[in-house]
Amino acid sequence: MQDFDGKVALITGSGAGIGRADALLLADKGADIVVQDFNAETAAETADLVRAKGREAHVIASDVADIADTQAKIVAAEAAMGRIDILVNNAGIGADYRNTEELDGPSFRRMVDVHVKGTFFATQAVLPGMKARGTGKIVNIASNWGQRGNAFAPHYCSAKAAILGLTKAWAKEFAPWKINVNCIAPGWVNTGMSDPAVMADVIAREVPLGREAAPVEIAYAVAYLASAEADFITGQVIPINGGDTIVGI
Ligand code: NAD
Repeated sequence: MQDFDGKVALITGSGAGIGRADALLLADKGADIVVQDFNAETAAETADLVRAKGREAHVIASDVADIADTQAKIVAAEAAMGRIDILVNNAGIGADYRNTEELDGPSFRRMVDVHVKGTFFATQAVLPGMKARGTGKIVNIASNWGQRGNAFAPHYCSAKAAILGLTKAWAKEFAPWKINVNCIAPGWVNTGMSDPAVMADVIAREVPLGREAAPVEIAYAVAYLASAEADFITGQVIPINGGDTIVGI
């Protein structure tokens, strides 16, 4: 039985999609939520949905790639909420499909800034509190493209692969403080990020189970990894992709 009573979860990019589903599921299970997103309006909507469930919510409107602003707001959120027990590094942007010769510096940098720097520096900001309490759960949201690659999205694939590396490095570094660090690598999920115009073809080609995931199907795994039931799991990458990355032995 997962019980998040008295716990506070910070979820980046929780104004929409998977992040919002994580926020609502963790709130259903008793957590108070820090909603972070660069869209202040959708972040406020998620916070209202959390409060409607009888839980507390605190909004951080910031770009995770703006390190100083986001870190200062995380520190203020922790002071306001008393603690941050769970961090879900979820904020992300989809790939603009380009071949390698066409990919310019600003596009590549933005992809790395949002996914890699965003994940790194949000984690850095919650770490002192987690270490002081001697416990914490960090769940990073990567992608099946970080595992198996995809043509014409080298910036997205490499940024997501870097999150797998951070997960494993941190699992080892933070283990003495009983801070678990794991990663979910979703395949296609039905959010604003997937393109409905091409989904039927892509799914027929890539997904044995024949559909996209619902955002809550990612949230179920986030809740599990953030719970005491997963105290002995760290440094792992959990694929949730309808069978897209099945490989032989
Ligand atoms: P989404 O577009 O529905 O939601 C992403 C949220 O993140 C939005 O609310 C957006 O405003 C916010 N965001 C984006 N950049 C931000 C930034 N720099 N700072 C703060 N907030 C920011 O997308 P989603 O599908 O829910 O994606 C969530 C995560 O899942 C992303 O990391 C994405 O790469 C990953 N993912 C999604 C899919 C998919 O098919 N949807 C597949 C694999 C991985």
